[in-house]
Amino acid sequence: MKYLSTRGGMPPKSFTEILLGGLATDGGLTIAEAYPKFGKEELAAMRGMGYRELAFEVIRRFADDIPAADLKAIVDKTYTAAVFRNDEITPVKTLEPGLHILELSNGPTLAFKDVAMQLLGNLFEYALARDNAEINILGATSGDTGSAAEYAMRGKRGIKVFMLSPLGKMSPFQTAQMYSLQDPNIFNIAVKGVFDDCQDIVKAVSNDLDFKARHKIGAVNSINWARVTAQVVYYFKAYFAVTKNNDEEVSFSVPSGNFGNVCAGHIARQMGLPIKKLIVATNENDVLDEFFRTGAYRPRPETHHTSSPSMDISKASNFERFVYDLVGRDPAIVKELWQQVDGGGSFDLAKTPYFAQVGKFGMVSGVSSHADRLATIRKVYEQYGVMLDTHTADGFKVGLEHREAGVPLICLETALAAKFDETIRAALGREPERPADLVGIEDLPQRFEVMDSDVEAVKRFVVAHSA
Ligand SMILES: *Cc1c(COP(=O)(O)O)cnc(C)c1O
Repeated sequence: MKYLSTRGGMPPKSFTEILLGGLATDGGLTIAEAYPKFGKEELAAMRGMGYRELAFEVIRRFADDIPAADLKAIVDKTYTAAVFRNDEITPVKTLEPGLHILELSNGPTLAFKDVAMQLLGNLFEYALARDNAEINILGATSGDTGSAAEYAMRGKRGIKVFMLSPLGKMSPFQTAQMYSLQDPNIFNIAVKGVFDDCQDIVKAVSNDLDFKARHKIGAVNSINWARVTAQVVYYFKAYFAVTKNNDEEVSFSVPSGNFGNVCAGHIARQMGLPIKKLIVATNENDVLDEFFRTGAYRPRPETHHTSSPSMDISKASNFERFVYDLVGRDPAIVKELWQQVDGGGSFDLAKTPYFAQVGKFGMVSGVSSHADRLATIRKVYEQYGVMLDTHTADGFKVGLEHREAGVPLICLETALAAKFDETIRAALGREPERPADLVGIEDLPQRFEVMDSDVEAVKRFVVAHSA
């Protein structure tokens, strides 16, 4: 399997060659030259598989330059009941016949990003050891992605993590999750500022190409191809869990921000999984909904801060992968469209033949507001006794709008309610439940470095502590 750039300017590369990187060398996103297809017999054989077997079966089609025995060992070591609190890894909860929640948030940081990030940690360690190399991961977080990255990379050989977070701006639970890590390869840098200051520092360091190369600076952002492939697996797992045979169709509702999760669903569908609809749910940051309704993609000058903060984006970084497929995999068209986006503009496919193809890819969309979130959390708790987090509630609300009789609807649970206690209190007037092993995490000793919002100071710190 070779990987190309969505903009056509990168020589073909293998899976491990793109594993540690971010953007393709021409500024596009890396993409498989063709999606592997599962035929009837293969799907029939996969139906009986547990998570680890299924993960190996799917991921080996993409990571075919890792020897099968090595990949199997990595997958088996990643997807364990010890890490995901359940041997099903991503169990399905049925609310009523035909209406299901796919639990993706039983990992260490109680959000779906753990599913891919835990695999990435083990893949990184494997690839670095093989090449006798090291990496210093630099990132900025407002809470969620950063903690998933830290829990995936803690204790890994050849990897150090420098994670910037805004001092005093995260919830006590999120702060405790990150700052209580005592692993010597994890560095929490609490910046006196807001999240945007942290992000600006990371951008400034990454734009210093000489510094970046000299100090082996890397990232684990949501455009990482391996993360997307790891997410393909649970669409298969959920499909087999709610159907009896492979002629049935199901629909998935996906709380979306950077389009990574639903992009994995799109890939699963292209691989032959019988998915009817992929329902893209956004919050007040509705750039994706606007596209799927009108054909216009208009990244916004500003981002709304909402009660589903992990979907607060103004630009959807993985969306370019879908558009590549939508325009018939023609990199010249993608390049032209993103020249407009990268220049601060937008594009409109409404009057092109491409937009008419959106339906063929099963994509539909909708928006959920703060009031919808509260009402949905209340309704699902009263009706089914199940507590949804704010992001999952957005997906649930939009999912129901597109539900069809006779087609099972699977709503992806992207985080647990425990992470968003303020909104849960507002919706339900009570505290969210929390996994037993995380009760009292706020009382653990914390390890973090407080720094001014100063690029040079951060660079000095990285140099002094880097791998
Ligand atoms: C990251 C995240 C999302 C959005 O996922 P994308 O892959 O960026 O679309 C939704 N919900 C939660 C809880 C998240 O952490």
